[in-house]
Amino acid sequence: MSVQQVAGADGAELEVWIDQDLCTGDGICAQYAPEVFELDIDGLAYVKSADDELLQDKGATTPVPLPLLTDVIDSAKECPGECIHVRRVSDRAEVYGPDVE
Ligand code: SF4
Repeated sequence: MSVQQVAGADGAELEVWIDQDLCTGDGICAQYAPEVFELDIDGLAYVKSADDELLQDKGATTPVPLPLLTDVIDSAKECPGECIHVRRVSDRAEVYGPDVE
């Protein structure tokens, strides 16, 4: 079994999480990157594990696979709730999303 490659533009590993408190449930993220985001029956979006399992713990993160990086970044940019956060795994610094300084 091969290890899925995860990386950001500078080679850093990235992960993504959603703040469900702000999610409007419009589903844009799930359209852009259905491999990473999915709406649950509660109408809110959650990230999924590499095994396609919905991760519903508050602040749960999932790795961003390199081939999906653009789709995940676009989701964060277009998210009406401004609640998709992409951060570096190494130091948890947000690199795309509402908390980027
Ligand atoms: S794009 Fe943002 S607000 Fe819309 S469903 Fe996804 S996380 Fe929620």
